[in-house]
Amino acid sequence: MKESSPLKILFASSEAFPLIKTGGLADVSGSLPRALQNLGHDVRLVLPGYQVVMSACKRRRLLSFEQEGHEVTLWQTTLPGSRVTVWLVDCAEFFDRPGNPYLDAQGEPWHDNAQRFALFCRVVARLAMDQFGLGWQPDVVHCNDWQTGLVPVALRHEPGRPALLFTVHNLAYQGLFSRQLFTELRLDEALWRFDRLEFHGQLSFIKGGLVFADRINTVSPTYAQEIQTEPFGHGLDGLLRHIGGRLSGILNGIDAREWNPGSDKQIAQRYNLRTLNKKGVNKVALQREFRLTPGEETPLLALIGRLVEQKGIDLLLAVLPELLQQPLQLVILGSGNRLLEQQLTELAARYPGRLAVAIGYDEGLAHRIEAGADIFLMPSRFEPCGLNQLYSLRYGTLPVVSPVGGLADTVVDADTPHGGSANGFVMAAVSAEALLATTRSALSCFHDKQRWRELQHNAMSEDFSWGKSAQAYRELYRLAQDDRDGERANGRV
Ligand code: ADP
Repeated sequence: MKESSPLKILFASSEAFPLIKTGGLADVSGSLPRALQNLGHDVRLVLPGYQVVMSACKRRRLLSFEQEGHEVTLWQTTLPGSRVTVWLVDCAEFFDRPGNPYLDAQGEPWHDNAQRFALFCRVVARLAMDQFGLGWQPDVVHCNDWQTGLVPVALRHEPGRPALLFTVHNLAYQGLFSRQLFTELRLDEALWRFDRLEFHGQLSFIKGGLVFADRINTVSPTYAQEIQTEPFGHGLDGLLRHIGGRLSGILNGIDAREWNPGSDKQIAQRYNLRTLNKKGVNKVALQREFRLTPGEETPLLALIGRLVEQKGIDLLLAVLPELLQQPLQLVILGSGNRLLEQQLTELAARYPGRLAVAIGYDEGLAHRIEAGADIFLMPSRFEPCGLNQLYSLRYGTLPVVSPVGGLADTVVDADTPHGGSANGFVMAAVSAEALLATTRSALSCFHDKQRWRELQHNAMSEDFSWGKSAQAYRELYRLAQDDRDGERANGRV
């Protein structure tokens, strides 16, 4: 029977933890394939062979070939800490360079991103059709974000093609390039239409996924609804409403092994629900690390994330002077927009011992902050799923979040009428005033020890591991197969 039979799944992504990570996509690509494998499916992960990945892992050469005049070697390795097979698309010209997968040293997109990811997509499409003779053809290709948007385009006319799922992890990143690049990439002229790859005179990679995949999903049910509206649609809400029947939302899980305060080797003191009083040791360690005035009674707030407009950093900057009139401390870890980095650093200099800012990307520090803080701030303007609030819940670090996307789906406000399952604090709107008001509620609740423990208890007892969501993906793959088969039967391919 289709429902229960194991599937062969090719999971295509531009990053996967722990090999290469810039954000939540890597967390998902590093843990969902493993969860699917645990359900009995045969999953292969395919990634670009970035320099940092190639130099970090033991690998075996499968074959070398030419792709549109570029030398490509396909390597095989295993996702560290798992049995998931990883294929690396190694094209030195495009991927053998240091630094960020998408941005150059100046923080600008690599000048040849269109060519880099078009090549990646074309190789993935050939893998999907087993054109290299590896003796393995997937039933489903699971594509993720714009970097894989041309995979469905390349496969759309292939007889006997796998079913195609395209997951949107963040609609704000669309892979937009010039009309000239569309020509250079030798894409079929028939694709230059507003209902195909053209987007206001530009080539849109993400539209390849949205238009040509059998099914599309986002990483939370609320975000799946939001992106069909103008304020959240980034210009694609019309198209998304049009394909609404093929669009759904599945909440991300978390890697419950990696993010577990009971076994986390990166924190000063391990703890769990029963030994919650030990969490304070991590707080004191964090205060020491950041030269904050030591003291368990002072509420310690935290924020980790990309310092970009999406994350509402400007809202926090607007309320910080007022917030800091109260006895509290705040630790911020992030990098991104240079101006925001500078504003935060300057503010930290004005509040020594109370406000600490670490500019950079530091996985270990992220763990220590989750373990040491009391309250976690996520005032995002939009949030497809958000992982940090999930890590915070797991670590008993109660989140203050805006009422959007995956934040709305996972955080239950302490003041809700049915407050029995409350696990944090939800802002009434996305605004500086709401952030100030909700943070104040969280602070007053922090001093009510019993209520705080109740909320921590709710937060830490929740199960955000991948099990349920992996089952939901399994169901979505089946729907994608049905849609593909229906399309064939209707002759609409
Ligand atoms: P997004 O994908 O929009 O960046 P998510 O909340 O979905 O946001 O995922 C962000 C992931 O990246 C989390 O695992 C978070 O801990 C991590 N992260 C973001 N910025 C940093 C940083 N400066 N240092 C360490 N980890 C970070």
